[in-house]
Amino acid sequence: MLWILGAGLIVFILLSLKYCWWRPTVGLEHPRILMYHMISGSLSKQKHRGLRVSPEMFERQVAWLKASNWTFIKASELFTEKAQGDKRVAITFDDGYEDNYSQALPILKKYDACATLYLVTDRHERDWSVNKNAKHNSGDLMREAKLSDKQVAEMLASGVFELGGHTLTHCHLPSVDMATKTFEINECKKVLNATFATQVTSFAYPFGHYSDEDIKLCQAADFNTAVTTDEGIDTQPNAFRLKRVKVSGKDNFFAFKTRIRIGFRGHI
Ligand SMILES: [Zn+2]
Repeated sequence: MLWILGAGLIVFILLSLKYCWWRPTVGLEHPRILMYHMISGSLSKQKHRGLRVSPEMFERQVAWLKASNWTFIKASELFTEKAQGDKRVAITFDDGYEDNYSQALPILKKYDACATLYLVTDRHERDWSVNKNAKHNSGDLMREAKLSDKQVAEMLASGVFELGGHTLTHCHLPSVDMATKTFEINECKKVLNATFATQVTSFAYPFGHYSDEDIKLCQAADFNTAVTTDEGIDTQPNAFRLKRVKVSGKDNFFAFKTRIRIGFRGHI
């Protein structure tokens, strides 16, 4: 009898550490910025599983946000009137994978939602994981289909998506010289604005890595906001160090709802 109680207690403690359910909900007046990469199913042993949210799960998440009265905003609206009030959520996608067009766009349209796409300008035939660590040269990210300019143009024309900067080559900013990082930050904005006849105002640091110098460069390049991969929900936001709520392909739906509530999930 005692061992059943003991086992039950261990399971309870493990699940509690996993979901951090006891943590209080972050005030609903603070917008949630969700971070996605790919909307695609994954094989159990496939790499980058955390980056792949299945289309079914993504639809369930967007449908739940809508039904729970969350208002969808874009990153460029974070410090505007549209971000005022309770339950504001900004969906963001990093890099520019083709499934953002084939899978995410129809779902976002269906629920009258919107999103910001942080698009790598020079994104074809690249495995940018090597920019952070030369050993990461599996080529997995290179084989992943990326968005064509035509698809991006259609996503913008739909009104569902806006674009944000993510450098030219998914550059690891802290490890390159000043001239390179200046060029990567300034040029990506110019190229996106010119190619898609749009006004890009938000930036995402590749790999979520940045220095004070990089923040200054983004400000000088006239970006208004920059998002990181630091997990959480800002209660006193710094516009150039914005936290995001990571949506992981490894999570179940309860974990997603926990993340929306407190900004993250335990890591066991
Ligand atoms: Zn990225």
